[in-house]
Amino acid sequence: MAQPARPAAKPRPKTKELPEHLKAYRHVWVFVELEHGRVHPVSWELMTEGRRLADALSVELAGVVLGPPGDGTDQAVAEAFHYGADRVHLVEDPLLAHYRTDPYAKALTDVVNAHKPEILLLGASTLGRDLAGAVATTLATGLTADCTELAIDPDSRALAATRPTFGGSLLCTIMTQAARPQMATVRPRVMAMGAPDRSRTGPVVRDRLDMTEEAIATKVLDFIPDADTNQAQLAYADIVVAGGLGLQKPENMRLVVELAEVLGAEYGGSRPLVQKGWITADRQIGQTGKTIRPRLYIAAGISGAIQHRVGCEGADRILAINSDPNAPIFDFAHHGIVGDALEILPALTAAVRQRRA
Ligand code: FAD
Repeated sequence: MAQPARPAAKPRPKTKELPEHLKAYRHVWVFVELEHGRVHPVSWELMTEGRRLADALSVELAGVVLGPPGDGTDQAVAEAFHYGADRVHLVEDPLLAHYRTDPYAKALTDVVNAHKPEILLLGASTLGRDLAGAVATTLATGLTADCTELAIDPDSRALAATRPTFGGSLLCTIMTQAARPQMATVRPRVMAMGAPDRSRTGPVVRDRLDMTEEAIATKVLDFIPDADTNQAQLAYADIVVAGGLGLQKPENMRLVVELAEVLGAEYGGSRPLVQKGWITADRQIGQTGKTIRPRLYIAAGISGAIQHRVGCEGADRILAINSDPNAPIFDFAHHGIVGDALEILPALTAAVRQRRA
């Protein structure tokens, strides 16, 4: 019997030739997010990723450090080299003491215009999201936010930035073809952080911030550190225990919290638990919540929908507890217990307590 004709494979869309004036843009840059003397770890995750991209392009990797003199900038510069930078661009100015969009966007835009990197990566933290949008708008270039994968297109040498779309049901890969630099943000813990090489060092290029206080619309009257010490530190926790709708009642969330306590872990949950007010929004795991990369993730009564999966599948080990043997979470969990979470969670807590006694 004659086989039905196969539809012809769709030709790959042609990548456009880069306009002549943009060909001068070279090298991969990572914005080093320094706030009140401390570097956000997402910067070193991106530096590791940036190293891979720079090597694929056979170009340099540079870090950009912005901050007030003497408040952690020296340490940030040194560490940028340890995590893989070949060069560091440094702008020190008292106006950069507290994060404000105007001076940070001006400093970063000016350094980019002066040195012309082809790729600029920032963490999708609160600060990074604000700064990336402001800088991309000023530079009139493309920004792909919340990427889950970065690669170099072998034909065009363009950054192929992949991110979830349509509510997480599809992944799309975006390339900036007619502008430079190509900008992308990546959420904390999406990329793995490499081990630092403390022997690495390199040249520091100093740039100036050409701005006065009068030109800045926002004024910092006082800085009050976050007093909420209960703020969840999910993204960087070693062990995370989470609950989902399978817990059935808000009071059963206590079973998750108790197991987390005996394990010295953080606790979290799926999005419906936030919507129902069982947990606070800073404890939501998933596409619209936190991305986690713990050594162990225990998910109890969570179905494993794609929007939840993208936030937790980077865990080294996933233990799923679900009464439905066909729950999607068992497709990506490393260990599974089919059963009632309301019985299994207290049994695990008691077992850990006993071992520790
Ligand atoms: P359900 O899907 O209802 O699953 C409950 C599970 O519990 C079931 O598998 C069931 O078999 C099991 N169960 C029932 N009783 C027991 C028991 N006694 N013991 C053990 N297991 C039991 N979700 C997120 O989590 N994070 C996000 O960031 C997120 N972002 C989203 C963004 C968008 C744009 C959209 C559209 C959705 C998003 N969601 C997100 C929602 C997501 O699609 C799912 O609806 C949600 O993850 C389901 O939560 P759940 O697994 O707790 O509940």
